[in-house]
Amino acid sequence: MKNYGPPAFDAVRGEGLYLYDASGKAYLDFGSGIAVTSVGHSHPKWVKAVQDQAAILSHCSNLYGIPGQQKLADRLVEKAGPGRVLFCNSGAESNDALIKLARLHGRNLSGGQEAKRYTVVTAEDAFHGRTFGGMAATPQEKIQGGYRPMLTGFKFGQLNNIESFDKLVDDTVAAVFIESIQGEGGIFPAEDSFLQELRALCTERDALLILDEVQCGIGRSGHFFAFEKSGVKADAIGMAKGLGGGFPIGAIWAAEPYAHLFQPGSHGTTFGGNPLACAAANATLDIIEEDSLLEKIMANSSIWHAAIQGLVEQYPQHIAGMRGAGYMVGLALHTDSSVVAIAAREKGLLIVPAGHNTIRLLPALTATPKELAKSTRILGEVFAELGS
Ligand SMILES: *Cc1c(COP(=O)(O)O)cnc(C)c1O
Repeated sequence: MKNYGPPAFDAVRGEGLYLYDASGKAYLDFGSGIAVTSVGHSHPKWVKAVQDQAAILSHCSNLYGIPGQQKLADRLVEKAGPGRVLFCNSGAESNDALIKLARLHGRNLSGGQEAKRYTVVTAEDAFHGRTFGGMAATPQEKIQGGYRPMLTGFKFGQLNNIESFDKLVDDTVAAVFIESIQGEGGIFPAEDSFLQELRALCTERDALLILDEVQCGIGRSGHFFAFEKSGVKADAIGMAKGLGGGFPIGAIWAAEPYAHLFQPGSHGTTFGGNPLACAAANATLDIIEEDSLLEKIMANSSIWHAAIQGLVEQYPQHIAGMRGAGYMVGLALHTDSSVVAIAAREKGLLIVPAGHNTIRLLPALTATPKELAKSTRILGEVFAELGS
């Protein structure tokens, strides 16, 4: 079907930070399949783990115990805090599960009555996915257009404007649900002080604070979860994109008191967290840990960000500024972002447009200083050739 438009090339092979087309042309991949191939393409340890697991057991359903899934859940609990994990296959599905969790929480607060306390407050410019739950949480005409009526029970505040949330979070609200760093909307990080104030607000009014870490989580910001540096504790977290390193898997974590809202039979999935997906995710976490990727991202990104800031100063006619953290950077442009993305691609660099005329740079967490420097060199050529 035609929902993606004509592709620029056929991608037939990947290795590390490079993606190759059918003619063998190499592209430096700073899109990572939209923040998915977190340990690069075809990482040998990841490939071996997936191949080994495929030879033993790929799928059995959640009717049976899955040791690799238990191991992965334990590792995520280790990072997120005391609680429980439920697996699925994508970001939108993890967000749908979180919206269901919010409704169960609201029902609990309403003394078991439904349809009293169910509103979820998300942010303008948010992106939470394409399912009916995800769409309703995503107040963009380009996402919702054509599909109304939307699921009811959503209101929208402004990211980093605590007053706007203060006005909305009343006794009909079950949860506040935001991205720690907005991705599709144009790389807008939630400020630490905003997250701290939102935490206090949610605690005071019994609303869950749910963080969508689908794009910014699993190390992309230089922290395992992007909200960590704020010191805030979430009640629930959604994950997907980078978790499987290229194999589809999503997960939600909920803190201990809320994890029990889901009881046997209340929610489920056929594929979610199957042995093959969990092998891919466990291998991804192994590589992040064994290769100290978070420390490397911190060290490498300060140099890379400085180089990008240099471009901002050198080409003010094209670039308005940079935003982001670690290996999740947005360049706000004056020039059309798709023109810049196409020019970069022709020079062998893949980047992804986002909202508010932004281009996104999302290299694999394994990107080296040399590869980062190459990205800014190519971007510099692109802006130089665009003229004034
Ligand atoms: C991509 C994304 C989603 C949707 O994930 P899918 O796997 O495409 O369903 C949800 N939330 C955020 C923040 C995302 O970036």
